[in-house]
Amino acid sequence: MPLQHIEVARDLADGATLRADVAVIGSGAGGATVAGEVARRGLTAVVVEAGGRPHPGGLGTHVRNAYPEEEQLQSEFGPAVLAGLTPYEGAEQPLAGLRGQRFAHAVGGMMSFWSHVCAVPDHATEAEPGVPEDEMRALWRQAAALLWSNTSVGAHGVRQRRLTEALAAAFPGLPPGREVQPLPVGMRIGAAGSPEYSGIDALLTSGDAAAPGRVTLVPGYAVPRVEMAGSRARAVLAVAVAGGGRRTLRIEAGTVVTAAGALGSPMILHSSGVRPPALGRYLTDHSMVSSRVRLSPEVLAGMGARDESFGVWVPSSSARPLHTQLVPGWTRVPGFDESVPVRETSDIGQFVAVAPHPDNRLLFDDEHRDAWGLPATTARFELSEADREAIRAAAADHVRVADAVRDTSYGLSVSIAPPGGSLHLMGSTRLGTEETGVADAYGKVWGTDNLYVAGNGVVSTATTSNPTLNVVALALRTARAVAGS
Ligand SMILES: Cc1cc2nc3c(=O)[nH]c(=O)nc-3n(C[C@H](O)[C@H](O)[C@H](O)COP(=O)(O)OP(=O)(O)OC[C@H]3O[C@@H](n4cnc5c(N)ncnc54)[C@H](O)[C@@H]3O)c2cc1C
Repeated sequence: MPLQHIEVARDLADGATLRADVAVIGSGAGGATVAGEVARRGLTAVVVEAGGRPHPGGLGTHVRNAYPEEEQLQSEFGPAVLAGLTPYEGAEQPLAGLRGQRFAHAVGGMMSFWSHVCAVPDHATEAEPGVPEDEMRALWRQAAALLWSNTSVGAHGVRQRRLTEALAAAFPGLPPGREVQPLPVGMRIGAAGSPEYSGIDALLTSGDAAAPGRVTLVPGYAVPRVEMAGSRARAVLAVAVAGGGRRTLRIEAGTVVTAAGALGSPMILHSSGVRPPALGRYLTDHSMVSSRVRLSPEVLAGMGARDESFGVWVPSSSARPLHTQLVPGWTRVPGFDESVPVRETSDIGQFVAVAPHPDNRLLFDDEHRDAWGLPATTARFELSEADREAIRAAAADHVRVADAVRDTSYGLSVSIAPPGGSLHLMGSTRLGTEETGVADAYGKVWGTDNLYVAGNGVVSTATTSNPTLNVVALALRTARAVAGS
């Protein structure tokens, strides 16, 4: 479902000025959620996005929609995703300290490529402390609906049933609601009967968000700073990425929301002179432990030629603080026999929490500017002994998960991703108090009247669940605060 109802501003004259109720920087999960929700509440929004490269399937849709069949995952979808991910600003080197981190500079940000896992966090261990429980749970439900999250994928498949049974037997006694269960994924069956996967189209075109004139998308413009007048954000300044940054754009708005990712947003705030003490600190990530297995003959027995896809989840909980998902794989895995058909394999992915620590941080260099006019930025990110012990425990647990479902006549290569490798960088614009947070629990930046943050940077807790559903939920709260103010 391309963004056909969203206005896309192209060929703007040098020095153009746009006006809207809300200016949003970044068109990823956080930015698209805010723009969609304020538009549903009758406001206008301009979304400015540094990326602009088209991708298969149309602007704002998920690339997987161009490759819906399971057998295309490794041959076509995987390479398309990897080609879309780069170090920040397409630099040749990864961010110092975060070797695994990649970014997507595209309309839709990383949601153009995400694996659409809509894990609901464990309220007892992962929820934002500043949001009341009833409201948080309602926001998670609303985020799930917006993202087309459901568990019907594979509901009748042979692999789904057998994998669920095997893991339930291996991990009994988990807390109610957090037992082994189908993995919620952001997909639906489209009008033509084939699966459609959610990108930011799901966030921007639900309800009457796409009413004519409400949301304008400006691709291909990077924001070096927000113009501040004391504690008020007055305008967003942007420069065209193509053409050497000569064409400038100014967006005047009553409210500005920075949703440029967990790296871009803190850089923009710093560059704008908005520097709460926690800015860029408490960076956190998910340490990722993964493998691919050939499924055991017991799991595959009786599987037809067109077995439905599958997704099985062992949710994070206080009894088992580790996210575990089994899904068909889309990348090449070192040490795995690539001649095994995709449908006989499963990827096993686990995420381990990294405890937020103020010394895990971004370092802004005011003497040097990058290609978009932002301060050159590096990261200091070190795992503590407790973080490392959690990874060791997860690696041992991983083998237990694998042994419950794998063909043991094949080998098992368990990999631990480098920092940033989960692509879930968080915490750099976290919610919290004036001392420990960059923004309050509505996303309003401390010390400002009308400047907000959204996206992965706002997460303040040590989580293991994939972040997007939670981040969309928190961005809905931010949008409602903006619309009500
Ligand atoms: C391959 C892959 C698989 C994933 N799978 C899952 C999954 O299954 N489940 C899950 O929950 N999460 C998953 N994720 C993570 C998920 O995509 C992110 O959590 C989420 O999209 C982050 O949203 P965001 O708004 O914080 O940032 P982003 O998506 O990074 O969006 C930020 C946008 O801001 C733009 N920007 C940055 N700086 C500037 C600037 N100065 N001016 C203008 N624009 C700027 C960027 O170009 C980018 O488009 C996956 C990610 C990838 C890449």
